[in-house]
Amino acid sequence: MKLYPEGANRKKQLMLGKNVAIGDNKFLIIAGPCAVEGEEQLTEIAKFTSKTNNIVLRGGVYKPRTSPHDFQGMGLEGAKLLSRIGKQYDLPVITEITDSRQIEFLDQLVDIYQIGSRNMYNYDLLKEVGKTDKPVLLKRGMAATIKEWLLAASYIELNGNNKIILCERGIRTFETYTRNTLDLSAVVAIKNISHYPIVVDPSHATGRKEMIIPLAKAALIAGADGVMVEVHNDPKQALCDGQQSLNLDEYGKLVSELEFLTKIMKDYE
Ligand code: PEP
Ligand code: MN
Repeated sequence: MKLYPEGANRKKQLMLGKNVAIGDNKFLIIAGPCAVEGEEQLTEIAKFTSKTNNIVLRGGVYKPRTSPHDFQGMGLEGAKLLSRIGKQYDLPVITEITDSRQIEFLDQLVDIYQIGSRNMYNYDLLKEVGKTDKPVLLKRGMAATIKEWLLAASYIELNGNNKIILCERGIRTFETYTRNTLDLSAVVAIKNISHYPIVVDPSHATGRKEMIIPLAKAALIAGADGVMVEVHNDPKQALCDGQQSLNLDEYGKLVSELEFLTKIMKDYE
């Protein structure tokens, strides 16, 4: 089932910034806090992570929280901060878009749009980001089949935008020990039946920080084009998802372990 056979107009490598790309052996790291919380927090994280090769800075400003009582994100002010700090450290930035009306101002401020798991079925939003020329990271719906996920990607592509990155972020199963269940087989499936690059998000897939490094390495070995991880300068104080965020030292360990693995894999090619 080749849903989307390779077309002549499809570049193997998708450029995301001046020196940042995904695909064709360019392994991408997307790292940053679940939510932008303020200048000091984001600066500390950006400063540290900017030493990584091929990295995009993430930070949510519109947080689709399960509970309306939880922190909802800094909104436009947060997006401005993300943009400014991204520029300061020369990092492309990604944030989740939750409403097509946000395009009007986010278009100036971010480099990549993220469509969250809860919005994978929001076809009107998919069509609208499809009309922009920004890369779109499309997270898998938490109960979506691979086919539904690829059809959601088609909503974006049919509106003119083929700069799509898929993100496996775990699916709902009967298991409760982890927040979701990471479906690494989806990485192999996506590689076999589509032309899209795919990243794996072990933070939201598991909800547990001790699982991030092992599963990020497993994602690399399974053939993923990158990983997305939540990183916080002070996870215990995080306003959102601190339990699944690496601190800066742990992030450094993740990067060096991924680099080591990449080198071993190259040596065996
Ligand atoms: C996120 O990445 O901030 C997020 C909310 O993830 P998901 O949409 O996968 O739940
Ligand atoms: Mn989060």
